[in-house]
Amino acid sequence: MLFGNLTIIANLIMQGAGEYTMKMHPMWQGPLVAPGGNRQSPIDIRVRKSVFDPHLKPLTPDYDPRTCSQIWNNGYSFLVEYDDTTDKSTLKGGPLEDNFRLCQFHFHWGESNAWGSEHTVDRRLFPAELHMVHWNSDKYSRFEEAVMEENGLAVIGVFLKIGKRHEGLQKLVDVLPAVRHKDSVVEFNRFDPACLLPTNIDDYWTYAGSLTTPPLTEAVTWIIMKQHIEVSHDQLAVFRSLLFTSAEEEVQKSMVNNFRVQQSLQGRTVRSSFTPFLKEEQPAKGPHTGH
Ligand SMILES: [Zn+2]
Repeated sequence: MLFGNLTIIANLIMQGAGEYTMKMHPMWQGPLVAPGGNRQSPIDIRVRKSVFDPHLKPLTPDYDPRTCSQIWNNGYSFLVEYDDTTDKSTLKGGPLEDNFRLCQFHFHWGESNAWGSEHTVDRRLFPAELHMVHWNSDKYSRFEEAVMEENGLAVIGVFLKIGKRHEGLQKLVDVLPAVRHKDSVVEFNRFDPACLLPTNIDDYWTYAGSLTTPPLTEAVTWIIMKQHIEVSHDQLAVFRSLLFTSAEEEVQKSMVNNFRVQQSLQGRTVRSSFTPFLKEEQPAKGPHTGH
């Protein structure tokens, strides 16, 4: 989860417990503690401990590619931003009672293919994770208002795995060199975010969590897709060619490892829209067998 004015927001947060993952990155410099503290993200999803909820409805994203407006390197990731002044690109259904508007999507990734995702499944790490960020337009009038509220945001998380080149993603990858440096923005139109969803969006986990960047507010209903999408190593290499730093800075830093450390579950329940055992082809034998 990402925001614009991170520094100002971060300064408002109480100082306390350590947050060391991104100690080299300005966003995580100095200790941070969550404002609430008992429903933080990301987490490890333990498949056997998740609870099948037969009342979870199918998810119904309805996106208009014409609301896509620009790509922005905010110094921590790149944000593909959507016009959210109308209800043209929305998310409903699933665990959600209200209508949520898409405002942006972004990714988190590692310096190698061995790690990079924020969430994990039975401790399994993925090379990258997509976050599609939506805010509750039934209850609030702006993203900035929704971000401070318990039921303010809904974020879809999709794991990326290395495999075939992703044709939909390539349109985005082609433009990334234009936003190599922090603070650069490029116009970007008619990108359908639905092309980045897996073919099966009926199977997902959901839990109550938080933003994974400051202000770390506990506003998020997380919807994590069970099925991953495939991208090529070369496509992720272009993500890694981006920079945390602006053109003026003397020492340039590669944009990699832009994820938050995992947080404890604190008694929360992760619900699944599918029965965890009946649909598994085979029981997992270890951290790398859960394909
Ligand atoms: Zn995120």
